[in-house]
Amino acid sequence: MKIIMIAGDGIGPEISAATKEVLQSANASFKLNLQIEDEIAGHASLKKYGATVTEALLKKVKQADGLILGPMSTYDFKDESKGEINPSKFFRKSLDLYANIRPAKTYEGLRSPVNDFDLIVVRENTEGFYADRNMEQGSGEILVTPDVAISLRRITRQCCERIARTAFELAGSRKKHVTIVHKANVLKIADGMFIDICHQIGKEFPEISIDDFIVDAMAAHLVRAPQNFDVIVTSNMFGDILSDLTAELSGSLGLAASVNAGTQHAMAQAAHGSAPDIAGKNIANPYSLILSTAQLLEWYSHRSGKSEFVHAAKAIEDAAASLILSKEVTKDIGGNLGTKEAGNALAQKLLALR
Ligand code: ATP
Repeated sequence: MKIIMIAGDGIGPEISAATKEVLQSANASFKLNLQIEDEIAGHASLKKYGATVTEALLKKVKQADGLILGPMSTYDFKDESKGEINPSKFFRKSLDLYANIRPAKTYEGLRSPVNDFDLIVVRENTEGFYADRNMEQGSGEILVTPDVAISLRRITRQCCERIARTAFELAGSRKKHVTIVHKANVLKIADGMFIDICHQIGKEFPEISIDDFIVDAMAAHLVRAPQNFDVIVTSNMFGDILSDLTAELSGSLGLAASVNAGTQHAMAQAAHGSAPDIAGKNIANPYSLILSTAQLLEWYSHRSGKSEFVHAAKAIEDAAASLILSKEVTKDIGGNLGTKEAGNALAQKLLALR
């Protein structure tokens, strides 16, 4: 498996270095035959090539089997004509990574403000209220007059169908329950279509139970009784917001893992941003990116049929759970280790499996 690794901005270089050490240990213990190639994007690429991402980089990523994208200073990148392209959007759109899969669960030994839960947010990734994804050319945001702005939201049948199918397939290997989250009481046409299509696809999976909630009520339900949910399928922006909530309910945004998956490509990416407030201090939690990378290995296992990758992914997750229990982790999740030391502790656990 050839993996392109982009360290990213802010805390990116620190959590990426920890992730790389873990990957190298997994490689040694599970004989994955990994090839890891470092590349740059974001501020480093803007400085060197005049653009946050380049076509040459995209070509390399397309030839590889997976991408690990460190956090990007997306907020700094405002003008595409100056090379300030949002790298996240760039890869999601160019590689058609339509499913953003964001698991969240409570861990033994880690205090959570809510009851124990284990769920996955399946977020549509290629359209919705993301103006930079919705047009063939130009942006879906329009400044009509200096005081009037319009942001367009696009919902298509094809994207609803494929994200619904991803959710039902995932639920089949879990607790067999899918919750559709929408705002069809207000967005009657677009979210009405989203719900209808999800229910239609659900008919192909008779063993899976289905319910649906309006997004605002869903936020309350998640805080009150997250254990009632298994797989939550929703559109782009609702998924973005709800998954930060579920990550924080699980103990910390530093646990927020995700994989962006398409049929041909996948990209591991922490669900949080570049956290400039804690960058360079060796305190960021690397688990978000490490667990995202485990998801990437699992995706590759399904795609390639090579079971050693899913075993490696499971070993990473188990080692993380055991280190959380023994508090050999970063401060945000109850330990007193630095970023580097937390990564090293996990890497050592994996090496012990050799
Ligand atoms: P950006 O502008 O790139 O989105 P941000 O700081 O506005 O960055 P996040 O990066 O999502 O947004 O971070 C929100 C807060 O969550 C940060 O201030 C930080 O304290 C915390 N945080 C985020 N990631 C981690 C992490 N890996 N470990 C510990 N704390 C984190």
